[in-house]
Parts: sequence; C-alpha cells; structure tokens
Amino acid sequence: MVEVESNGIINPNRLGGGVFVVTGGNKGIGRATVHRLAQEGALEVIILSRSSADEAIVQIDPFNTKGFWIACDLSDESSTAHAAEQVKKEVEAIGKRIKGLVNNAGITEKDLGSRGILYDFIGREHIEKMFQTNYIGPRMLTAHLLRRDLFDHAEPDTEPFVDQVPSIVNISSVRGKNWVMMGADYDASKAAVITWTKSITASVFQEYGYFIKANVVCPGFITTEMTDDIPPRLAAILKYSTPLRRFGTPEEVAAEVANLCSVDTGFTTGDVRSMDGGLGGGVSPSMLLYEAGVDFPKKG
Ligand code: NDP
Repeated sequence: MVEVESNGIINPNRLGGGVFVVTGGNKGIGRATVHRLAQEGALEVIILSRSSADEAIVQIDPFNTKGFWIACDLSDESSTAHAAEQVKKEVEAIGKRIKGLVNNAGITEKDLGSRGILYDFIGREHIEKMFQTNYIGPRMLTAHLLRRDLFDHAEPDTEPFVDQVPSIVNISSVRGKNWVMMGADYDASKAAVITWTKSITASVFQEYGYFIKANVVCPGFITTEMTDDIPPRLAAILKYSTPLRRFGTPEEVAAEVANLCSVDTGFTTGDVRSMDGGLGGGVSPSMLLYEAGVDFPKKG
C-alpha cells in the first residue's frame, strides 16, 4: 500500500526532488500527473500547453512544488522550439536539469470536429494536424530538450546509479495498439508514439553517450474533456467492452506515469503499459456490432 504522510505527500524520495516537464499539464490526465508528481516530491513541474495552467499550479502549492507554465502549441514547430528555449532558461535559473519529461498533450477527432467520420471528408490537412500534435510535436520537443542538454544524467560512458537516469513517459492510447473504428488517423499517430518510444534509450545512448529510460502508457477510455462528448449508448458499449466495465480516472493513469518516472522502475525501458481496464486485450466484437447498427444485447 502507498504510504501517505499527514501533509499529503506520497513516498517523497521516489522522484528525488527532481524537475519534471509535463505537456498538457493544465487539464485531464496531464493535470492529474502534475498533482501526482508533486505528491511524490517533485521540486518543480514545468507545464507546456496552449492555455493557462494557473489552476494546476495552485493545486500543487501545498506540496511545496513550484509550478511554472510555458505557452506552447505543439502543432507549431517554432512555438515548440521557443518553449524548449524557455524550459532551458527556467532550469538554468534554478541550477537543475530535467528528471522527467511526460509527453501527454494530444488531440482526437473531437478537437478536429471529425468524430464519426472515417474517410469520406478527411483530407491531408486533418491527417497532418493529428500527426503534428500527437507525434511530431512531442518528437520535436524531446529533440529540442536533448539538443540543449537539459536532461539530468551521469557523465557519458559511465555506469550511472539508478537515480541518475532520467525518464521520458509518452502517452499513447489503447487505440495506438488496436483499431476501434473511431478514426484511423488518431490511432496511427498514437501507434507512431509507441514505436518511437521503443527506440529512445538506444538512440540517445548512441548519439549522446548517456542513458534515458523511455516508456509509454496506453490509457483506455478515461473520464476527461476528451471523452465527455461520447454519446451515452456508445459509452455504455465501450464500458461493456472493457473487462473492468468502466472508464478509468486521470488519477489512475497519473499513478503509473509517476511510477515510470521513479527509481522503482530503474530497469524498465521501451515498455508499453496498459491502463485500460483490459480493453486492449483485443478488438471487441461488440463495437463492430454497434458500428453495424446491430442492437446491443441487454442483460437478462
Ligand atoms: P484533454 O483533452 O483533457 O487534455 C488535452 C491536453 O493536451 C490539454 O492540456 C491541452 O491543453 C493539450 N493540448 C492539446 N493540443 C495541444 C497543442 N497543440 N499544444 C500543446 N498542448 C496541447 O485530454 P486527456 O487528458 O484525456 O488526454 C491526455 C492524453 O491522453 C492525450 O495524449 C490523449 O490522446 C491520451 N489519451 C486519452 C484518453 C482518454 O480517454 N481521455 C484515452 C487514451 C489516450 P491546451 O488545450 O491548453 O493546449
């Protein structure tokens, strides 16, 4: 069981007083992650998003964790490069390097107004926006932070202690592993995140001579703004298709993200962690029945 101290801090040594960068930390899963990192003793959490992160920052004040917001549109290359430069200024100002990067921000068909449209009206611009936000943005942000030597690390070519290896946690989706007939471009962009993540540790070592562990979390359906427009009948079917028969919470995903940022997973890299109530076990025939307009069997 996780020990919670009277001040609300959980295992204060797991994250070693580090600095963490969380994209999309102002809402949903990202915001729950910011909160959890603070609860586990993060010194500072830097949030990158388009709109303000004031509320998320106020939320972590009681844990003596500094919150810092940098405006960033990950779908825009110059905004991403500028944000990386701002991160550099901030970590230099406090004399630290980054212990963990959580590439959480993302969009779905909801943000592009294409929910329910599979192929007919989807053009190149739509596909590019999906990939720019969900794959190219985090991929480039990571490259910008690496190029600026902002990750905490042991001297190149030395064997590091476990707490000298920083973490990257990328948020993909159950839809990056299995298609679910809700939009192929989101699924493909999230599949790209998985494949990229697997390459990070070896590539960084080859190029820079030090270690970063990199893992990916694949949430199933989670109760956030992203899923709040799912019609009740489809929501019921998605829950029925999930062995644990419910949507997950942002806090459940955040707990696994913090675990992957911590020394407790010091020998884990390139791993794909499911936080999906079992939905990722395979394509559920009930979803195909739903799409085909077949009435869903009722209990009893
Ligand atoms: P929300 O819609 O609640 O939050 C999305 C976050 O991404 C916001 O903080 C938003 O901030 C940020 N964001 C979106 N576009 C950009 C951009 N161009 N540049 C910078 N930031 C951006 O979503 P969730 O919390 O539900 O999702 C978080 C991650 O989890 C996403 O990657 C999503 O794909 C993934 N996921 C979610 C699931 C779910 O069921 N909720 C299931 C599986 C995966 P702002 O608008 O201010 O920029």
